[in-house]
Amino acid sequence: MAEPVIIIGAGIGGLSAAIRLAAAGQRVIVFEQNPLVGGKMNEIRTDGFRWDTGPSVITMRHVLEDLFTAAGRRLDDYLTLVPVEPLTRYFYLDGTVLDVTRDWPRMAEQIARLDERDVEGYLAYLAYAARLHRITGPVFIYDRPPTPGSLLRVSPADMRHVDAWRTMDAAIRGFVRSPHLRQLLGRFATYVGASPYRAPATLNVIAHVELTGGVWYPRGGIYAIARALERLARECGVEIHTGCRVEQIIVQQGAVQGVKLAGAQTVPARAVIANVDVATVYERLLPTTHTLRSPLRRLSRAEPSCSGFILLLGVEGSHLQLAHHNIFFSSDYPREFDDIFRRGQPPDDPTLYVAITSKTDAEDAPTGNENWFVLVNAPALGTAFDWVTRAASYRDHVLARLAERGLDVRQRIRSEHMLTPLDLERLTGARRGALYGLSSNNPLAAFRRPHNRARDVRGLYFAGGTAHPGGGVPMVTLSGAAAARLLLDDLA
Ligand SMILES: Cc1cc2nc3c(=O)[nH]c(=O)nc-3n(C[C@H](O)[C@H](O)[C@H](O)COP(=O)(O)OP(=O)(O)OC[C@H]3O[C@@H](n4cnc5c(N)ncnc54)[C@H](O)[C@@H]3O)c2cc1C
Repeated sequence: MAEPVIIIGAGIGGLSAAIRLAAAGQRVIVFEQNPLVGGKMNEIRTDGFRWDTGPSVITMRHVLEDLFTAAGRRLDDYLTLVPVEPLTRYFYLDGTVLDVTRDWPRMAEQIARLDERDVEGYLAYLAYAARLHRITGPVFIYDRPPTPGSLLRVSPADMRHVDAWRTMDAAIRGFVRSPHLRQLLGRFATYVGASPYRAPATLNVIAHVELTGGVWYPRGGIYAIARALERLARECGVEIHTGCRVEQIIVQQGAVQGVKLAGAQTVPARAVIANVDVATVYERLLPTTHTLRSPLRRLSRAEPSCSGFILLLGVEGSHLQLAHHNIFFSSDYPREFDDIFRRGQPPDDPTLYVAITSKTDAEDAPTGNENWFVLVNAPALGTAFDWVTRAASYRDHVLARLAERGLDVRQRIRSEHMLTPLDLERLTGARRGALYGLSSNNPLAAFRRPHNRARDVRGLYFAGGTAHPGGGVPMVTLSGAAAARLLLDDLA
């Protein structure tokens, strides 16, 4: 039997690569150190509540559909994706509540109440974001990593619209006047763990995939996606071993030979795809003799994307004022990002995100209760804040902030879990707890992100949030596709 392709890690990027390779006729074995697949996409159940612990907003449905199509299946036979409406409910300190909705007349009416001129400004912004997607998608998102050659596919006329040299916020200001809308549109930077005051305006493309493409929720919870991909992979013949940690990638004369598992068993492989943080691969999984071209030093110094502080709350009562996705904006957005990226501190006045899947899936909480996922953006792990000694008081602070916004649930918490950046690093292998790999706070981030094919080790590939095209569920699904395509090209 031909030696298999081994995939280290059953995160969404690893499963995506496994499915594509198996569908192309490769023998594929996945080793996952955790008891369950999914990586950062995970769930917890206690006291009759169920919470997703990682992603909560799913966009770019077509990316998942393409993966099922590549395996000759239909997504609808595995997952029921329902549109979330409103996409998000936004709460501002001055009492304004804005539902971002697919219902354009309702959306226009809400915008007009803020500033009538912003109705046309918002439409122009959507057109601008759609153009960014048309221009950048084929080169930076849906294909293998960009090269100077692939950039030639962008016409000179389109190239000047890539808009990499000003910030997201600067571009947004050119379209809308209302501070409410500016804050709302700037928030899309956080979908890749970046700051709207530093990330290149090109990242306004994220607004396109959500505001024009919509937000989807899989019945049964976001974790249903991981379950569906596991089922699809196994049906395609992928062997998945959970509770199986890879300790080393065996390399001889610059080429991958296989992997060594915890317990010293070795498994030969014709190629390896690491669905692991790229810097961690170089630091812990490759032999120390890797070549001078190793990107470890550069990656260790690179700024990570932000992390998060999470409270999973089983809350007694029904909160009719809340939707499935809710944002309570802070009073000073630039200061919040300064706290995160310059001071390395969790914000004193954080924007609070509250996702409640029991609004859509009633069985996620006992009758008369709700399952709250509260997320606050936090800095990647560093020296400025010690979560070991300060997490409990930050939890109290976040609950007090919610209370100030009219949501005092402190006496009505029936079940609770807390996840700090330290937990995210420990449980998911996220280096410094970063949710989305390396920072996108730089116009050249797309070029600096590690390639899906290792430069210095033949037969080694990368899929996942730290490799091209970056973090987030649709992106890592594409990352798996890019790694699989490069590997198949090389085998051919
Ligand atoms: C709190 C939070 C909120 C988020 N919100 C969103 C959101 O709303 N929308 C969105 O699109 N994205 C969101 N994301 C980001 C998204 O979850 C990630 O980008 C994506 O799931 C990462 O997938 P990945 O393929 O990089 O693999 P990972 O999820 O990083 O999984 C890697 C896997 O490899 C395994 N592994 C590592 N080392 C080894 C080893 N040596 N041997 C065996 N196995 C190993 C790990 O156990 C893990 O299962 C969020 C993430 C978090 C944490």
